[in-house]
Amino acid sequence: MPSPAANIADLIRRSDQFLVASHANPDGDAIGSTIALGHILASLGKEFCLYNTSDLPRQYDWLELPGTMHSTLAGAEFHWAFVLDCGAPQRVGDELYKVMASIPVANIDHHLGNPQFGQFNWVDEKYSAVAAMIADLADELEIPLVGPLAEAIYLGIATDTGFFTFDNTTPEIMELAARLIRLGLSPGAVNGKIRNQWAVNRFKLWGESLATTELFYDGKVAVVQVTQGMFARTGTTPADCEEIVNFLRRLRGTRAAVILREEEDGSYKFSLRSSGADNVQTVAALFGGGGHRNASGGNIRENILSAKMHLVEALGESLGLV
Ligand code: 5GP
Ligand code: MN
Repeated sequence: MPSPAANIADLIRRSDQFLVASHANPDGDAIGSTIALGHILASLGKEFCLYNTSDLPRQYDWLELPGTMHSTLAGAEFHWAFVLDCGAPQRVGDELYKVMASIPVANIDHHLGNPQFGQFNWVDEKYSAVAAMIADLADELEIPLVGPLAEAIYLGIATDTGFFTFDNTTPEIMELAARLIRLGLSPGAVNGKIRNQWAVNRFKLWGESLATTELFYDGKVAVVQVTQGMFARTGTTPADCEEIVNFLRRLRGTRAAVILREEEDGSYKFSLRSSGADNVQTVAALFGGGGHRNASGGNIRENILSAKMHLVEALGESLGLV
């Protein structure tokens, strides 16, 4: 039986006019895999439209794009939509989600519990990053992993593995990174481009947010908040919150880290982080969210105190702390 990468390669060869999209508030893997697939389509001479409802975050403006990143679908025509790194179809945002009912979707993802929402589904949680799936696709299509394509793939695999520090740092992902380096990618330069992009505003947001840190269960669970007021005072956006929750894991003895980020509609986007056998995916799922065993998230429509209490209680139960 052909591999899923071979099937996708076949789909690309047979068809044309593709939409390439990922989730709102995109992280490095969402952007990296979108751009990487764009480069693949460009090198095959295919027509495509890159889309993200939240646009390209400024921190990724150093990437060499194969085409414009659109934040609206107005005027776009396509025969297939590639939806990347989306554990749930709604994560693409309302505009595309509505359109997805009437066009074929190729769902390429690595999240546990992905409901296989595409006409074509390549969902494999053994991959540490969707960008690594796109690298397999490039291999299948015999497109060399060099230049801007390699940088986009590296962005996805480096960020989704926490720069090769999380438990999803598999031999396979290290081998892919090694291959990119052998083919000419310069890790010092590209890591600098990925990491050294902060505005001082972000430092100020982090300062305000980290000052809210609360510890529960003898420090085994740590919680921080970000409010709309903090964004307003520091001139920042939700994209500036990326990594705050990972930073909480620096606290000695912390097994689970939580960030609660106030949305414009007053609900709270939460992110959970753990390591090893400590499962935070099941906790996120209790609140209608999802993700991976050690990195999950969702949205709670409660006031801050009850949202925090419910998450902390669920984590206490799940990690056996009560
Ligand atoms: P983050 O907390 O950084 O936004 O996401 C961590 C992981 O949880 C990601 O893999 C992401 O896809 C998943 N995740 C975050 N928010 C949601 C959500 O609302 N629903 C689902 N199903 N997964 C989410
Ligand atoms: Mn990912």
